[in-house]
Amino acid sequence: MYPDLGLFIDGQWRRAADDLAVVNPATQEALGRLPCAARSDLDDALDAAVSAFRIWSRTAPRDRANVIRHAAALMRERREEIAQAITLEQGKPLPQARLEVIRGAEFFEWDAGEAMRTYGRVIPAPRGHRLSVHHQPIGVVAAFSPWNFPMSQPARKIASALASGCPIILKAAEETPAGAIHIARAFEDAGLPPGVLNLVFGVPSEISGYLIPKDPVRLVAFTGSTAVGRHLTGLAAQNDTSVLMELGGHAPVIVCEDTDVQAAAIAGAVRKVRNAGQVCTSPTRFFVHEAIFDDFAETFVTRISATVVGNGMEPGVEMGPAANNRRVSALTGLVEDACNRGATLATGGARYGTPGYFFQPTVLKNVRETARIMNEEPFGPVAVLNSVPSLDDAIAQSNSVRYGLAGYAFTNRADYIERLVDEVEVGNLSINTLEASVPETPFGGVKSSGNGREGGIEGLENYMSVKNVWHSAGIA
Ligand code: NAD
Repeated sequence: MYPDLGLFIDGQWRRAADDLAVVNPATQEALGRLPCAARSDLDDALDAAVSAFRIWSRTAPRDRANVIRHAAALMRERREEIAQAITLEQGKPLPQARLEVIRGAEFFEWDAGEAMRTYGRVIPAPRGHRLSVHHQPIGVVAAFSPWNFPMSQPARKIASALASGCPIILKAAEETPAGAIHIARAFEDAGLPPGVLNLVFGVPSEISGYLIPKDPVRLVAFTGSTAVGRHLTGLAAQNDTSVLMELGGHAPVIVCEDTDVQAAAIAGAVRKVRNAGQVCTSPTRFFVHEAIFDDFAETFVTRISATVVGNGMEPGVEMGPAANNRRVSALTGLVEDACNRGATLATGGARYGTPGYFFQPTVLKNVRETARIMNEEPFGPVAVLNSVPSLDDAIAQSNSVRYGLAGYAFTNRADYIERLVDEVEVGNLSINTLEASVPETPFGGVKSSGNGREGGIEGLENYMSVKNVWHSAGIA
């Protein structure tokens, strides 16, 4: 069920002298050993990517699209095998892992189509002159993907790079390598030329510190925490290299007095525990109108307390463990801090069960603005429910953090919706739903949640440079 782990460089699988253990977060049992790239492996990956750029950037977009679609079809065929590996290494319930595999395949399919639509334009010019704009692949991409979505996070970056005509060196998360390994296998079987996709693992700071300043790297694409994103942006700036940053979020949920209280509360409680809350768009700070606060809180707490928690391989489980022990320690600290500052712990609040990195679905009520959890992304199954007197207040509190990734609201009032669209500072706003994005919509943040977009027709923009061509019929 769990794949052999390796580095994939210049179309070949490699082992390495150093390796790391990969552990099942539900059982704490070892799943395998992950090879760590030495500097010589990274140099080989860079050389391979530079050579591959000459071939892949000149491969017709339709041919690139066909290879990407073929690989995506293989991923769909291998859905069960990939999903089981994801659940084993990351902990999420198997049905969620299956959906992730399909979502990953959809990212490839969308970007394959976009490969053929990277249109330029012709600008009106004086007779005898032709002004045209061309979109060209930016060059070698160094990408870094996190552990919360082992397949769909690498898929976002690989899909956009390959569709644009760029080779990529991806360092996927060491704790959850199998999704990226399966993607590399699918592309190997689909006939991707060697060196277009290179997959490495190792000590993250050593790999990023070595790769990012290298001359051939023209784009750094990262998904992860704001702190690490800032650090990588600094490394890229040393060489004036472009960045695409998908960083943290701390999503507000504004619940207005006109909404269906029961339905909104149940939707919130169910979505909060998805992937054990380890989602950058996870709904976290609920600002509920005071007229409906008690009803909303009662339903929310009842539903979240009933969550079936356990090993994600078992049927019926709604929430698995946290992906690693760092999350359990971080969540424990955030809950203690909030309670010390006067918050009410309505349910949960602690680690439980051994083995495994399980944390109880947790609700904190009436949390003060000064509590750490109001400013730090919990990245776990913890919700904050606060009562607010008005929409003004809800919007002000939603915007009070540096994050601006996803935001949600429940209301049917047209005047409220207009204000929400204009005033909530996020890259993705969802009203009466807690879905945040699909492959055909642009996904990304404002403020400290990053820059650039993945998906939508905007998705390939970061991976391409714009060239303006002025052609004069005679020497002018
Ligand atoms: P972290 O900040 O140490 O790491 C986050 C990710 O960045 C990991 O995948 C890690 O391997 C990678 N990373 C860390 N240092 C790096 C470096 N110097 N160079 C390259 N990559 C590096 O924290 P963590 O404990 O792994 O994750 C917790 C935090 O990360 C969460 O609080 C959350 O904010 C953030 N996170 C966000 C997302 C997202 O989808 N936006 C995903 C995973 C984690």
